[in-house]
Amino acid sequence: MIAPGALPPELQERLRCPACRGRLRAGGRGAPSETLVCGEAACGRAYPVVGGVPVLIDDHKSLFSADEIAAGLRARGAAAGGPAPRPGRALVHALTPAISRNVKAAANFERLAHLLAAQGAARVLVIGGGVRGAGFDALLARGGLQLLQTDVVPGPSTALICDAHDLPFADASFDAVVAQAVLEHVLDPWCCVEQIHRVLAPGGLVYAETPFMQQVHEGRHDFTRFTHLGHRRLFRRFEELDSGAVGGPGMALAWSWRYFLWSFARGPLSGSLLTTFASFTSFFLKAFDGPLIDRPRALDAAAGVYFLGRRSESTLSDRDLVAGYRGAG
Ligand SMILES: [Zn+2]
Repeated sequence: MIAPGALPPELQERLRCPACRGRLRAGGRGAPSETLVCGEAACGRAYPVVGGVPVLIDDHKSLFSADEIAAGLRARGAAAGGPAPRPGRALVHALTPAISRNVKAAANFERLAHLLAAQGAARVLVIGGGVRGAGFDALLARGGLQLLQTDVVPGPSTALICDAHDLPFADASFDAVVAQAVLEHVLDPWCCVEQIHRVLAPGGLVYAETPFMQQVHEGRHDFTRFTHLGHRRLFRRFEELDSGAVGGPGMALAWSWRYFLWSFARGPLSGSLLTTFASFTSFFLKAFDGPLIDRPRALDAAAGVYFLGRRSESTLSDRDLVAGYRGAG
């Protein structure tokens, strides 16, 4: 995995201006923070680099402010690790059983690692990798991969800040792209998948997990849900290697129970008490997802879906898409 502040030279060569895709050159050396400047005369935009982490955000277009992100990165450098959680809250959180279970991620990431090894390929772009997702360790365990963790919100492993709507890389820069629990949080997932297709080398792989039956999380930054077929259409310019439910009906029911109770709350304290009660009264439901996950009816009721595919030059027709329905309706 590429550590923050340690982008290898061959990757720096592949960085592009998120606004015009022009080549970037180092500028402003000697200043407190370095800067990357677009080499296109008509553009010439400058992007901050904080602690070796480039902030490649098109400020005129993105929902996110490059200045705010850069300030956050500087603050993180000044106080490593960030503020400690309040002890009482951390204890309650640690003792509360989880209601979510990702049944497939570990096996899927292992398969992705095997496919990459078989192709002798190593360059992996992780979108939204600020927080390490379920099962991701299976990919890390393979070793030898050049994993680039990117996000719009700096996390402990984030080596580059970018917006998935404008990936700041040259075409065909990566052998695989991972987007785990990301595409529900972007404004235009279809645009982001086009970008994924563009930055993948021919025959490059994609792995995505996206919620289906799951309530709003991360507040205002949650926009879209996909059925299994809706998700397949999102990746219609990819050949399917595998797809299905990643979280099952048990997890979906537990989330519904939690949000049903939560909707009665009138403030943060009652909300917290109700969601904790919900966790203790529904955590066992996720145990059903193991045996259910591959059943057709479970696909129609899945908490989330996954897609593992290969970049294709042809597009799946909508008739073939519908013919690929694997639910029970
Ligand atoms: Zn530019």
